[in-house]
Amino acid sequence: MALSDASPTSLSGIGVSPGLVAGPVARMAPGIPEPELALIDASRDLDKECERIEAAAQTVKKGLELSAAQAKGEGRTLLETTAQMAADPTLTSSAQAMVRERRLVPERAVWEAAGTLASMLASLGGYMAERTRDVADVRDRIVAVLTDSPMPGIPMLPEPFILVAEDLAPADTALLDPEKVIAFITSEGGPTSHTAILARALGMPAIVGTGAEVVDQLHDGDIVLVDGTKGVITLNPDEGALRRAKELASRVRVFNGDGATKDGREVQLLANVGDAAGARSAAEAGAMGVGLFRTEFCFLDQPDEPTIEAQVEAYTGVLAAFPGKKVVVRTLDAGADKPLPFLTDATEANPALGVRAYRTARRDPDVLEHQLEALAKAEAATDAKVWVMAPMISTAEEAKAFTDKARSYGLKTAGMMIEVPSAALMADKLFEYADFASVGTNDLTQYVMAADRLLSSLADLSTAWQPAVLRLIKQACDGAAPHGRPVGVCGEAAADPALATVLVGLGVASLSMTARALPDVDAVMKSVTFEECQELARLAIDSATAEDARAAVRAKLPILEELGL
Ligand code: PEP
Ligand code: MG
Repeated sequence: MALSDASPTSLSGIGVSPGLVAGPVARMAPGIPEPELALIDASRDLDKECERIEAAAQTVKKGLELSAAQAKGEGRTLLETTAQMAADPTLTSSAQAMVRERRLVPERAVWEAAGTLASMLASLGGYMAERTRDVADVRDRIVAVLTDSPMPGIPMLPEPFILVAEDLAPADTALLDPEKVIAFITSEGGPTSHTAILARALGMPAIVGTGAEVVDQLHDGDIVLVDGTKGVITLNPDEGALRRAKELASRVRVFNGDGATKDGREVQLLANVGDAAGARSAAEAGAMGVGLFRTEFCFLDQPDEPTIEAQVEAYTGVLAAFPGKKVVVRTLDAGADKPLPFLTDATEANPALGVRAYRTARRDPDVLEHQLEALAKAEAATDAKVWVMAPMISTAEEAKAFTDKARSYGLKTAGMMIEVPSAALMADKLFEYADFASVGTNDLTQYVMAADRLLSSLADLSTAWQPAVLRLIKQACDGAAPHGRPVGVCGEAAADPALATVLVGLGVASLSMTARALPDVDAVMKSVTFEECQELARLAIDSATAEDARAAVRAKLPILEELGL
């Protein structure tokens, strides 16, 4: 790594995935602008122009196939699908027809042909409509070849690099290869977006929401140090800082499946998973069970309701990874940033406040019934202890209706997520029905602070360090206590080691997080007694601001500095 003589410069953003790494910057090329409507010069040979389109499509197809061969899992499948789209003659032949009939320049012809193809797919709905994104991707790549512009998308470099982009969609993030992309920085994006959640699951340090002025200072090849914990980017880092990054990267911490405070009070440290592969790696990472199985992640790309058999298979895969252990399964949480074409209405004006999550059962009760039936079958086929909960329960009627329904399918332990403020405020009443609750701090924060969880410009509001959010979590725990019901946390707050101690002090019995966060949360938890957690909780809820709460708690936890957290 070649260091520059310039002095170090500190830039900041929102740290959303912890870790300290250094490497060269590679910027994601900007999107391809719409080519002008220009006509081919009369002197040019139309056959040759048509051949250029064919050749460009082949170049794109080969490039994508090459990347697919190097990628793994879901990333590979996505790249293979896009390569097939590039090879599909529908797009090229209709672009060639526009060249011959209207004398459009090839890049414009490809753009228009792609527009027609995308509208046609969109009108078919369902799976076909979802392919419009692939059409746009292939279009941009072919136009880039035709106009000799940088290829859009993730750069492909032989050496590991730090990706710098304006924004990354969750689908782009899922494709990142952690051996190539060692961290990413984006000028947009919020702290609890699914892109941030995926970065944490990949164990990839990430900083989002830096604003364009920061990203504009980072150029291809610049060496930067990324501190995903603090949200700090150091341009031209000195030798000492680089040595420390290397040292921290070489320390491997493990979790032995024995979450507890220093004085031996058990704190269940569980994993958030979305499929069987994730469940298996969480079990290997020592997770004491699953605190949140996001079932909708199994079906995000499906146009129709999955059959009961398909659901049994998907759920059994996850349950089988945790024999004898607790697996908290959440019924489909569709809507807002996680639409399911068969369950949510894409035209709603305010999807975050709409018919989403458990509310979809008002319109499609059968989908919930089928899911509970499949889950009961999967439970019978494995040794896991299934706890089932519904997302976004808002009232006592809903808590009663859901838990009654779940028990009617033989699912004995039935509970709810607390992510709507009304559920926290009314917890004492809701726990007359719910056997347990898990607090979804991502949505609870969004609804308490009235701040879209995807917006980086509101990131200061979108944090569970907000004392208002912490007071509601306390209220939820206080409502559960007389009924002897356990409350867990499965939002991103559980993965923040300092905040985790506060949550335990508020009365939370289990913390569920990306499996990669388990060792850090465990190490910090084992450094404090339960009484100290209660003291930290008091400090946090008595603070006037989120920043004060965070600073007061961190100041009492010197271990964070030692561990580089
Ligand atoms: C939450 O809202 O905190 C939660 C765990 O659910 P999701 O992030 O899937 O909305
Ligand atoms: Mg939620």
